[in-house]
Amino acid sequence: MESIACEKWTVSLLKQYLRDRAVPHSGYCKEKLVKLVKNSHENPSLVDQVEPTDGESVSESRRTITVNGDVVVFPDPHLLTGWDDNLTKIPSITSACCLIYLMNKKGWPAKRLENFENERGYQLCNDNHINTVQIKPHDGNMSYIRAKCIRQTAQKESPYCVWLLATNRGNIEASGCQCIGDDGSCKHVVALMYAVANFVHRNEVSLSIQRPTPTDLLCTWDKPHKSSEPLRIYHTDGRFVHST
Ligand SMILES: [Zn+2]
Repeated sequence: MESIACEKWTVSLLKQYLRDRAVPHSGYCKEKLVKLVKNSHENPSLVDQVEPTDGESVSESRRTITVNGDVVVFPDPHLLTGWDDNLTKIPSITSACCLIYLMNKKGWPAKRLENFENERGYQLCNDNHINTVQIKPHDGNMSYIRAKCIRQTAQKESPYCVWLLATNRGNIEASGCQCIGDDGSCKHVVALMYAVANFVHRNEVSLSIQRPTPTDLLCTWDKPHKSSEPLRIYHTDGRFVHST
């Protein structure tokens, strides 16, 4: 297939092209938008399609994380087995943890974070697109979290598998998705992060009670009540420090 000559397109045309294909794009510079358009054009079958997950599907660089000064390559979440529906020990991710991750690790500009409530991922979370959440502890201090995310535009198609790697204290270290827009912070990953933050917030009391003796207690994924208020993104805790 011929490459698409979109370098001279205006930013609004680039965004329109991506919007029509449900590819996440807000907050990116023009250079990145051009790359996304080319990628979508060259792989039309992958737009809003599930990519195969056989074998090594998450790049090593995505899973390479510095922990206490040591560079560690974490396992591919798609190859792990023994996932647990009991979320009693789910990492304590807060909305502040999500913001810190998107800002520091994913380079989201401040303007995008300020308008977060307009993000599609945030809306997917509030519309309950996240389900089948499971955890897989790793090395005592960290856990993988995975879930299914119902697609925004093709809800009858198979859902995307999305994942996070976080410390037990809730610091998010890595993330990914099966969609073509996967850069670790696509709308599906954002939906999962905020769905987990909402879950932790809803179950805060019971989780803190259960943590000391979690062996025989069960805490599984629940949906928020329709009447409950969505968690405000600037609901913060002591770990969130503004850098000025
Ligand atoms: Zn995605």
